[in-house]
Amino acid sequence: MKALVKYSEESGAYKVQDVEIPKIGPHDVLVKIKTTAICGTDLSILYNKYIGRKPVPIPIIVGHEAAGIIADIGKEVRDLKINDRVVIEPLQGCGKCIDCKLGNKNMCHDWEHLGITCDGTFAEYIAVSEDAAHKLPENVSFKNASCLEPIGLTVRSLEHVAPVLGDRAVIIGPGKIGLFHLQALKASGVTEVFVIGLDQDKKRFEIAEQLGADFIINGSKEDPIKKVMDITKGRGVDVVIETANSPKCFSMAIEVAGPKARVSTFGLYPEATIAPVSVIRKGLTIFGDVALLTKHFIRAIRWIEIGKVLAEPVITHSFPLEEAEVAIRVFKEGEEGAVILEN
Ligand SMILES: [Zn+2]
Ligand SMILES: [Zn+2]
Repeated sequence: MKALVKYSEESGAYKVQDVEIPKIGPHDVLVKIKTTAICGTDLSILYNKYIGRKPVPIPIIVGHEAAGIIADIGKEVRDLKINDRVVIEPLQGCGKCIDCKLGNKNMCHDWEHLGITCDGTFAEYIAVSEDAAHKLPENVSFKNASCLEPIGLTVRSLEHVAPVLGDRAVIIGPGKIGLFHLQALKASGVTEVFVIGLDQDKKRFEIAEQLGADFIINGSKEDPIKKVMDITKGRGVDVVIETANSPKCFSMAIEVAGPKARVSTFGLYPEATIAPVSVIRKGLTIFGDVALLTKHFIRAIRWIEIGKVLAEPVITHSFPLEEAEVAIRVFKEGEEGAVILEN
């Protein structure tokens, strides 16, 4: 089968190549991948920027956001059958450590994560445990299902910031995570959502507008903090989602936050400067987290099923798997919405 493989330790050493179709054990299923989305984590692995809990094994097939059709099942699999449409949950905890037992497998130090600690989804087929394959409702398209993992991250983030009807929110960074938050916050009754980006986000601003953003702020042309403060009459907002990959945005998130605001951060930069006094004086709560739990995944499927948070409006590019190298270059330019591979 074809797969996108990082084949050596060198930065950028990846190509589409022929590899063996993976074998399945008695409790595994073989999934023929229909759609798989490219994520910032994939780029960081391909270009040696990834800092994880375990070293990334090389060679590795990257990718961890995917949906497909069951092509084969192990002897002991009872609840799934060939031709079932499924989405793949990428993270499994060890099940034995204290964090797994406390229900936080995303904190497990011995986790397995598709495309990070083992072969992932930029391939024609993948073998996963039957527990990692969740059946898709009839009305959920493979395109929408391709982004269930980042939509699941949005579920987790909203669980943290707990928006209330009438809240105001700022989203810093209009990439796909930002645009999923926009849909979820609007659906949760947040009345004014500000989306902050830069000149390069022209296409993303258009999508944000279609998805109901109330204020779109181009930080290349105007001061986003001043604009938010002017519109909120100096108070700031109740919820801040920071998804831009720039350390400057962490302090911006603190500055646009109003009294008792909840701030959810996705930026994976190792350093940023903030004013702790603002955090204290405003009584802020700042949330960080990684990956997601099964409950977030299940809720994300439901969000798509009811049509409240969808990937299709956010997908700007789709490539066949054979053109994965081109797709990654497009994604790396950083101007797109979601970029997916289709089989
Ligand atoms: Zn991802
Ligand atoms: Zn564990």
